[in-house]
Amino acid sequence: MKTIAILGSTGSIGTQTLEVVRANGDIQVAALSAGKNIDLLEQQIREFRPRLACVWGEEDAKTLRTRVAELSVKILSGMEGLKEVAVCEEAEILVTAIVGMIGIVPTIEAIRAGKDIALANKETLVTAGHLIMPLARQCGVKILPVDSEHSAIFQCLHAKGGRLEDPEMSSDVADSAKSPIDKILLTASGGPFRGRSYDELKEVRVEDALKHPNWAMGQKITIDSASMVNKGLEVMEARWLFGVELDQIQVVIQPQSIIHSMVQFTDGAVIAQLGTPDMKLPIQYALYYPERRFLAGERLDFAKISSITFENPDPDTFLGLRYAFEAARIGGSMPTVFNAANERAVRMFLHREIGFTDIYDIIRDCMDHHRVIQNPDVAQILETEQEVYDRIASGIF
Ligand code: NDP
Repeated sequence: MKTIAILGSTGSIGTQTLEVVRANGDIQVAALSAGKNIDLLEQQIREFRPRLACVWGEEDAKTLRTRVAELSVKILSGMEGLKEVAVCEEAEILVTAIVGMIGIVPTIEAIRAGKDIALANKETLVTAGHLIMPLARQCGVKILPVDSEHSAIFQCLHAKGGRLEDPEMSSDVADSAKSPIDKILLTASGGPFRGRSYDELKEVRVEDALKHPNWAMGQKITIDSASMVNKGLEVMEARWLFGVELDQIQVVIQPQSIIHSMVQFTDGAVIAQLGTPDMKLPIQYALYYPERRFLAGERLDFAKISSITFENPDPDTFLGLRYAFEAARIGGSMPTVFNAANERAVRMFLHREIGFTDIYDIIRDCMDHHRVIQNPDVAQILETEQEVYDRIASGIF
């Protein structure tokens, strides 16, 4: 029986993780955490009976303590609570399904405590990949990707020798001279605005941006997919996870979302992972790795697929992708600036305070006004995040 803890159990990835747990029946849930949604967290506590549960606000924690007083669950709050969930003694895997840079510190604590990480929270690697990957190697823990593209790449890499017991990527690619990867082909659907011009993007509304053609996800990542900032974040994530140079990552638009990503090896062979768009597959793969289990759901029907097409992305329209590559090339604290500026800008867009392309302008402005710190430590990453938030809050936009 495996035991897991989940940061962000009430969100899109968190609830699907619990669906996987429910369907398999052989995973114990030791700890859960949410931001504000105490109604759903209460239901989850009653169903999965964790020993620990955490909500962000202490007032919400008090309410929840009263509601579940008859159960033997300890209700925590704030960052200290998140850290306690992350290092929860019984859990061998921490699922990081929390949104935002708030996930960094608890993830680091979990790695130090020897927990394997089923990583959905992409902000962790985007901003602190230079700290996380060496720490994971040092502590002997696995970073198991949950993001569908990264899981696809992870699965392609396991196919290379035809054996599941191939070494982990983190140690495998640490020595790039030995790496069999020539190129990572990171696929993207292109989002709801594929084919539009920059001027057309200026006019899009929140409800248009929230209509992803293929995937059902949380609000923030859905907007990031529409702006292609998400693909930029995924490029940065892939670079750290698989130890490749930026020039070895090519973004390919594959509008039907059938190919979830591909790896081209040094002998020219290309291996792809295909499937229907269902996040439960990468979640389950991460939880049971290296075992591949049955998963109920729709299957690809090749007799019905009329075509699988490819396009190049348009970085002159989808500036989020261009700025992401720029931030990644500059490195140091710049990816944090990119991520934090986008996080705030998306929030403003969702609150209808700014237009869609203003997201790009805010990222550009924050990147232009930042003095890069090389190899930032966690404190410097969090200070950089705060600087960006302060700049945006100062009302320049
Ligand atoms: P959601 O917005 O659906 O869920 C976010 C979760 O984080 C919720 O449980 C939320 O709690 C919790 N949370 C938010 N703020 C806090 C806080 N201050 N303290 C504690 N918990 C908090 O996001 P997603 O599930 O879509 O995404 C989660 C992460 O996974 C993101 O980094 C995203 O980029 C990544 N990801 C998501 C994919 C997807 O398909 N959804 C695919 C690949 C990666 P509450 O519900 O109470 O607000």
